[in-house]
Order: sequence, then structure tokens, then C-alpha cells
Amino acid sequence: MIVAEDMYRLGSQRSAIRELFEYGKQRAAVVGAENVYDFSLGNPTVPAPACVNETIRQLTESLDSISLHGYTSAQGDEETRAAIAAYLNRAHGTHFREDNFYITMGAAASLSICFRALTTSPEDEFIAIAPFFPEYRVFVEANGAKLVIVPADTETFQINFEELEKAVNSHTKGVIINSPNNPSGAVYSEETIQKLADLLRGKSKEFGTEIFILADEPYREIVYDGVQVPFVTKYYDNTLVCYSYSKSLSLPGERIGYVLVPDEVTESETVYAAVAGAGRALGYVCAPSMFQKVLVQCMGQTGDVELYKKNRDLLYEGLTKIGYECFQPQGAFYLFVKALDPDADAFCERAKEEDLLIVSATGFGCPGYVRISYCVDEDMIQRSFGAFERLYNKYEH
Ligand code: PLP
Repeated sequence: MIVAEDMYRLGSQRSAIRELFEYGKQRAAVVGAENVYDFSLGNPTVPAPACVNETIRQLTESLDSISLHGYTSAQGDEETRAAIAAYLNRAHGTHFREDNFYITMGAAASLSICFRALTTSPEDEFIAIAPFFPEYRVFVEANGAKLVIVPADTETFQINFEELEKAVNSHTKGVIINSPNNPSGAVYSEETIQKLADLLRGKSKEFGTEIFILADEPYREIVYDGVQVPFVTKYYDNTLVCYSYSKSLSLPGERIGYVLVPDEVTESETVYAAVAGAGRALGYVCAPSMFQKVLVQCMGQTGDVELYKKNRDLLYEGLTKIGYECFQPQGAFYLFVKALDPDADAFCERAKEEDLLIVSATGFGCPGYVRISYCVDEDMIQRSFGAFERLYNKYEH
């Protein structure tokens, strides 16, 4: 083969979620878009806050082309990094400085950078807690390490500590956590974070290694009923935060986020330099200039989370009433539901017969469950209940 076989494989196979989305478009052409209930993607439907477009308008009117569209520093504008530090310090009582931040093209870039920066040997392992975002495998393996899966705690969707303890060994470089979680909607409690920190401190000591927490937090602000999301750097020193504005500001197509390397990280300046080096090696330098400037003006703002909450309540109550077993999400915008067939892939195929497009959680490392994205129009949720009921009635209860 004239190209890298693993890259060819990645590029020629669409992800299962993308596949389903494309299928939905084909079905819409046949049966009409109003008769297809597409719950496949996590594309925010709540508009970006008004501040985003207002700032873009102001910037285009007030700045010359180079100031607006030119290269920024490789690690991002100082003003943007300082604004993020100030905001987090206000919100969480932390003491970050601009030098703790490396601006990236979203959480995907932030994660890839961290895996590349931390991997020192092909034996290095990163642990993902099921259910987990399937792209972790792509990012970890492409950057030369191994992904290890800790099975889900399907009662609470917090961390299954018994299994985690067994998975951590002398090769463990990091544990990836994602709270609020895609796909379960769980938010890790303070107790969970504390327990995780204690476990990793103990294991680092036992093996004489540095074990990192990689906190993947694109959904940090999308939480319901006043649930608090503990700020992980306050509980565990070796924490790198991978943040994205894709979901909080509804800007997934603009590709903007950051890596946070706190001073408390062991040899933090070395780790930051490796993060910058990985950004350089992977081509993630000078994140989009205009959106770095937008962030400065829109710091701390979000899209209207109440709209997602309305969808959550509608879908959770509607499906529970039909008889589905659903986990009530505390954050993000996904409903995690027990499939009516032990084979969730087969269940999703039967859902397709009703033009219901839902995602099997097998690829999320949680067999027997499905993910239903509710960042969709409320109207589509309302219209989909008949199809969910017909799907339910295909099975014996
Ligand atoms: N991590 C999780 C858990 C996600 O759900 C997503 C996107 O859906 C990402 C990372 C990647 O986000 P970004 O658009 O910031 O690259």
C-alpha cells in the first residue's frame, strides 16, 4: 500500500454515527424529512449567544484584515489566554495565568495534543471509563499509545472503581474522564472525583510513576437542576483539562478550545512545552484568530441551556411513560436508554424500520444501551413518540 494502512482505514470508514446521519439524509429524500426522526448527532441546536455575532460584526468593522485574520502566537493570543485564566479564577477560585493555556481547535485537538505530549513508549496506556466517546481510541492509537477500557457502572454511570483499580498499572499514563458525559449524561460527583484522585495518588506512589487525569470537558456548562461539576484541577495535581467551546457557545464548526496545564502539574513547564510541541507536530498552532477574539468578549456566556432541559424532560418523560428504561441525564444532551434487545446494534436496526435513528452504545464501550441525542427540535421529539411506541411494541414485555 502506498499510504499508511491505519490512516487509510480511518479515512475510508465513516464512524457509525456519521453513517447513520448519512442514511437519514437518504431516507428523508424518500419519505420526507418530517418522517425521519434523526437522533444521531451531537450538533448543538441552541443558537450561539447573541454576543458571538455582535462581536463578529464589531470586529469586522473595527479591525484591519491582518489584525483580524492574521496568524496569532502559536499557543494563542495572550489576551485570549489571560481572559480564560481570569474567568476560571473568578468562577472556581483558582490561580491560573495565561501561560497555563494552549489554545486549540476544539477538544478533539486538545485530546490529541495531550496524548501525543504524554506518550513516551508504545507500551503507554490511557484508560477510558465506559461509556466513552469513541474517538478516544482513534486519538490515543494515532499518537502511539494503547487505549484500555474500564467497563461501565450501569447503575449510576459514575466510575466503576473496582474495575478501574484492576486496570491501573505501571504503564498507565492517564485516565480520561468526561463529565458531563457523552453518552450517559452523568455528571461525576465530588465524591467520585475525590475517590479517583485518591486512587491515582496511591497508584502513582505504588508504581513510582506520574499518572495524569485528562478531563475532557466540552459539556461543562450544560447541566440541569443546579448540578455542580467539580473542577478537577482542585482535587488532583496532575490534571490536564481539555476544553472546547463547541457545545457551550454552540460553535462546533468554528473549532476553538484549549488545553490547561496548571502549575501544580509535576514539571509543569516541561509538560506545557511538550503540549506546545505536540500542537506544533500535529499542526494545531494559531487557533482561529477571529474566534480567539470572540472568546474574549463572550467569556462565561453560553447558549440557552434551558432549551436542552426542556428537550431532556420531554424525551425522558415520554420514553419512560412508554416503558423504556432511561437514565435521567444530569448534563450534556444525550439520553442513555436500555436497548430492548441484548444486542443493541440489532435494536437500532429495528428502530430504523420506524425511521428512528438512534445510536448503539456498543461503540461507546457499553453493550446493551443506545444513545438518543436530544439537541434536536422539540417538535421532532413530539412527533417521534408514535415511532418509539411502535418500536417498543415489536418486543415482548
Ligand atoms: N469529547 C467529547 C466527549 C465529545 O462529545 C466531543 C464532541 O462531540 C468532543 C470531545 C470533540 O469536540 P470538539 O468539537 O471540541 O472537537
